[in-house]
Amino acid sequence: TKRSGRNGYHFFEPSMNANAQQQLQWLQDLRVALERGQFRLVYQPKFSLPAGPVLGAEALLRWEHPVHGLVAPDQFIGLAERSGLILPIGAWVLDEACRQMREWFALGYVDWTMSVNLSALQFADPHLLEVVRTTLERHQLPPPCLTLEVTESTAMHDTEASLQTLRQIADLGVEISIDDFGTGYSSLLYLKRLPANELKIDRGFVRELRQDGEDAAIVSAIVALGRTLNLRIVAEGVETVEQQDFLTAAGCDALQGYLMGRPMTPELFLQTMRERHKS
Ligand code: C2E
Ligand code: CA
Ligand code: CA
Ligand code: CA
Repeated sequence: TKRSGRNGYHFFEPSMNANAQQQLQWLQDLRVALERGQFRLVYQPKFSLPAGPVLGAEALLRWEHPVHGLVAPDQFIGLAERSGLILPIGAWVLDEACRQMREWFALGYVDWTMSVNLSALQFADPHLLEVVRTTLERHQLPPPCLTLEVTESTAMHDTEASLQTLRQIADLGVEISIDDFGTGYSSLLYLKRLPANELKIDRGFVRELRQDGEDAAIVSAIVALGRTLNLRIVAEGVETVEQQDFLTAAGCDALQGYLMGRPMTPELFLQTMRERHKS
């Protein structure tokens, strides 16, 4: 089946009840996808002001399948994790995002940061730190221009080990963002100890936002919490002007969503930066 419209792409979604034979085929396809160069990244911009300059980009993975066309990450990240392939794929994502950042820096666009998503498996990989450090070195990038996004539930799993990994990443100088915030079960005590820089309010809260609804109260509470902990607060999934106005008034530092920009090809993203940085 093909789902149209989402992100402006036509995504292929492997059937949830694909039989064992089909599953095996997908796994085989995934195995060769890297060496055949079937992955690419799209970039979604983040803004602090609706008409302001681009504050940052989130790199999002796409798989150009030779038969099925574009496959959404939600459809293959799980398989990539179960098979362990997420480690080489994740390393590729990091390298490609950094290569791209370096290229745009060279064009004079320097006042923005790149965010890369980490899967739980990468986060648990003892080589993670080395991979991040060498990738930054390879592209001669200062660590603070990179933000690693880990979901709240990933950061919550095995809290002591997670804290140690997060501290090591922070020691490198790379920034940490807690993604899908509000969907996990962080204790406030644990949150306080997290060496994080940013907190991303989960799209679920933004979707149902009404001025006087429960989600509005939750969003305000998250913003207040983030303020207290000195975290940058980003709202994602912003699709309407009403949501944008509420989130800005609530005190979010940055907004991300289809309203201000969909995930874009590198060409389109560069064009967006050109327009926004004209001043
Ligand atoms: P995420 O990290 O929470 O990323 C945000 C998702 O929301 C993206 O979906 C993005 O395209 C979508 N989105 C952005 N703005 C809006 C909006 O206004 N409305 C709606 N409805 N959706 C919006 P995408 O690209 O399909 O990625 C889905 C998930 O796949 C990501 O969720 C992330 O968990 C994972 N993912 C994507 N790229 C990577 C990657 O390179 N590595 C890993 N480990 N995971 C990735
Ligand atoms: Ca993310
Ligand atoms: Ca998210
Ligand atoms: Ca998510």
